[in-house]
Amino acid sequence: MTSCLGYGAREAYGALAPMHLERRALRADDVAIDIAFCGVCHSDAHQINNDWKNTVYPCVPGHEIVGHVTAVGPEVTRFKVGDRVAVGCLVDSCLQCDSCAADEEQLCVQGPTATYNGRDRQTGTLTFGGYADHIVVREHFVLRVPDTLDPFLAAPLLCAGITVWNPLRKYGVGAGTKMAVVGLGGLGHLAVKLGVALGAEVTVITSSPGKVDDALKLGAHRVLLSSGAQAMQGAANSFDFILDTIPQRHDTNPYLMLLGRDGKLVVVGAIDLLEPVHGGLLIRNNRTLAGSLIGGVRATQALLDFCAEHQVLPECELIEMGDINEAFSRMKKNDVKYRFVIDMATLREPTAR
Ligand code: NAP
Ligand code: ZN
Repeated sequence: MTSCLGYGAREAYGALAPMHLERRALRADDVAIDIAFCGVCHSDAHQINNDWKNTVYPCVPGHEIVGHVTAVGPEVTRFKVGDRVAVGCLVDSCLQCDSCAADEEQLCVQGPTATYNGRDRQTGTLTFGGYADHIVVREHFVLRVPDTLDPFLAAPLLCAGITVWNPLRKYGVGAGTKMAVVGLGGLGHLAVKLGVALGAEVTVITSSPGKVDDALKLGAHRVLLSSGAQAMQGAANSFDFILDTIPQRHDTNPYLMLLGRDGKLVVVGAIDLLEPVHGGLLIRNNRTLAGSLIGGVRATQALLDFCAEHQVLPECELIEMGDINEAFSRMKKNDVKYRFVIDMATLREPTAR
């Protein structure tokens, strides 16, 4: 075991504070990683606040982890001390079921092990995430960060990036696709950049009039205000693919009606109830309403490589570890442009009282 300094919550809505944790001793196929940066996902806030009614406390969030290798177990072949690496939302899975065999470890039939608020497959102990000084992860789940990718900017790709990349690839978004992104936040702004990089014609649908200029600067070709009934009506039947990143219960019908023939609406944001869907809206135009859960290890590596090659980079605000509670309250007020990333060098021992 190694002693680890983390930053987490002891109860729902409790402020995050420094806490001491233990990381397991290295198993044969484990990699130990000193964490340099960790992105702040809206899921971290949901989990801390027990929005999904499954949080086990203490909870140390963080699944957009970038750092370097400090030690490897004897069976590790792909990494050595000093390598720049990353970890996303998964730290283990059965690696035997059909989903794992298809490189979709996030869909592991036995349930993948989440980076935090998960259970270690061997000991049953609670997993703790990347708001910490180091982490120990099974080699299969460790990603390589290309040299040409700024490690600070790589962090949000590990969850926000892969969550939007997977459906873009699965549904063949590319040149000529008329695509819309609902919600310009951490996930949404990366969907815009990746959609543009893949050659799609990208529209942002936002609830925030103040984000129109930003959306265009990020590369979107068009912006629609979701509150603008006339403009929304005018866009009816016009999109091939819509990615919906709204982080809470909402009505998808106004977005379904924007899909043209065989159009797909993929919900990634609302891990929650949705308002009832009108069957007539689905049936007309042969529309599909689908969901998508993060992505597997191979796809995440492909995304890191793609972003390095094409320099598709998130817009990030670097914060200190002690700023995290304010960052969560800003996230709640929709005041993030467009991802917080924690400089883990600012994680310090609690001061004695
Ligand atoms: P975020 O940075 O807070 O962005 C969410 C965006 O949604 C906001 O910027 C805002 O954009 C819009 N929005 C917020 N509240 C809204 C409301 N009440 N009505 C309409 N629009 C609203 O969050 P994120 O980190 O991108 O995460 C988004 C959601 O995805 C979270 O619920 C998170 O848990 C989930 N998630 C899912 C997966 C998965 O595997 N499916 C993976 C990661 C995260 P505008 O101002 O432009 O409207
Ligand atoms: Zn996330």
